[in-house]
Amino acid sequence: MNSSAPLAAFVRRHPRLFVLTGAGCSTESGIPDYRDGNGEWKRPAPVTYQAFMGDELTRRRYWARSMIGFPVMSGARPGAAHLALAKLECAGKVGLLLTQNVDGLHSAAGSRSTIDLHGRIDTVRCMACGIHSPRAALQADLLRRNPRWAGFEARIAPDGDADLDGRDFASFDVPACAHCGGVLKPDVVFFGESVPPQRVADARSALAECDAVLVAGSSLMVYSGFRFVQAAVTAGKPVAAVNLGRTRADDLLTLKVQQPVGEALAELVAGLS
Ligand SMILES: [Zn+2]
Repeated sequence: MNSSAPLAAFVRRHPRLFVLTGAGCSTESGIPDYRDGNGEWKRPAPVTYQAFMGDELTRRRYWARSMIGFPVMSGARPGAAHLALAKLECAGKVGLLLTQNVDGLHSAAGSRSTIDLHGRIDTVRCMACGIHSPRAALQADLLRRNPRWAGFEARIAPDGDADLDGRDFASFDVPACAHCGGVLKPDVVFFGESVPPQRVADARSALAECDAVLVAGSSLMVYSGFRFVQAAVTAGKPVAAVNLGRTRADDLLTLKVQQPVGEALAELVAGLS
């Protein structure tokens, strides 16, 4: 009996899973985690919605860091956790995969029944007219407008931006919406911003159709994800978690697997076939 046996038993017992994933699924793909094993911030907290919308210099700083971090984000490839969860869906075990990640790697791995709870970093939205556009197109525009910045290397954060401490961001040139002149924002839910209600409602109805919850690579420190575990427990549905380190839901879990998430899920999928 290997270490994945309890998780395999959990999945066999509960054929339709609501899978909730977090940053731990993407660390193997080179996108670092925000939080350490105790759920504490590893680096300064990311920009808030209020600061982004309320202050032009904050926006220049955000987009400068984002422009330099973008190649790592856009070049990331699915890792073992993403691939295993796509196979789990193929095997008919996944009712919904709800991810707190914004990197799109579950879709890239082949998962189809997914909701991106916090949006997608590969998409940009105009906050005035609501039009969506590809982040890659904005990247080309940012590089054209800011050739001096293009060569900087920096450490990359999970939301695709980079550390550029001490730079003068006032000169960084950020385009407005080409259609209406409005403020462009990544189509991701910032800290201090609400998840769109329809997205939450869709995830809740999927949860109602599922037998159990499998948390993969999340410390559940952000309430927008944690509330689905609370809702599952309230509805009497068991919750298993694969995560290295503490989660906010540790006292609510039926099963906790302390193992690297890619390794644990790959073993799980291999054991099911
Ligand atoms: Zn617009």
